[in-house]
Amino acid sequence: MTDADRLIVGLDTPDVDSAHRVVDRIGDAASFYKVGLGLIYAGGLDLARSLISAGKRVFLDAKLYDIPQTVENAARAAAAFGADFLTVHGDPKVMAAAVRGRGAASTRLLAITLLTSMDGDDLAELGFGGSPQDYVAMRAGQAMEAGCDGVVASGQEAPRLRGIMGPGAVIVTPGIRLADAPSDDQRRITTPGDAVAGGADHLVVARPIIAAEDPRAAALRFREEIAAALGTPPGVTPFPAESGL
Ligand code: C5P
Repeated sequence: MTDADRLIVGLDTPDVDSAHRVVDRIGDAASFYKVGLGLIYAGGLDLARSLISAGKRVFLDAKLYDIPQTVENAARAAAAFGADFLTVHGDPKVMAAAVRGRGAASTRLLAITLLTSMDGDDLAELGFGGSPQDYVAMRAGQAMEAGCDGVVASGQEAPRLRGIMGPGAVIVTPGIRLADAPSDDQRRITTPGDAVAGGADHLVVARPIIAAEDPRAAALRFREEIAAALGTPPGVTPFPAESGL
């Protein structure tokens, strides 16, 4: 897997037109995009379809959570899109329902362990006395038992999760910031290099790329740091030239 495959750009734009503009400006500097809740309710599913038909990979961050039958139906419909990843909240019954709904489709199901905007104080407010790390580890074990393919978690937890989940599980980490960059509303942040060195497979980066003056240059900067952590030279282009993308 190259640095290009590892970077997932979060399309947290206010509308689909701005998302298209960001994708155009990034060009071949990224090949994997996340479409999340903000856009899903604003035409994002059509955007996801068009990205997939243009040969891009898509992470549908739907964060499914409802009664099991509803989640099963939603996962069945969402998996038919052909996205690479689909998210479900890390509640055991909800995850098991999503696994049933996904069935034999190729979409991989990722469990949300604990939002990276949450810390120990937020957990205490929910009545959970342990640390975020223990909570995430518990959720990761439950995700594997339920038949999920991986988890979304902070890079800070990645090394422990790799131990719990084994080499085949997918670990996707948001909350990624270059050293000295503002953390925005994120709490459990990591640099791209530390996330990869800690065992993360994919890094989700939204604001630091899409809000940058030059999103393409920003994407390449993240890829450079990922490549440096992998010890490989940065890939020049994610697609063969003849693909026309
Ligand atoms: O702008 P920033 O890089 O902080 O965005 C991170 C993205 O990852 C957002 O789209 C957010 O919804 C998503 N995400 C997250 N924490 C999770 C799961 C998803 O920040 N646990």
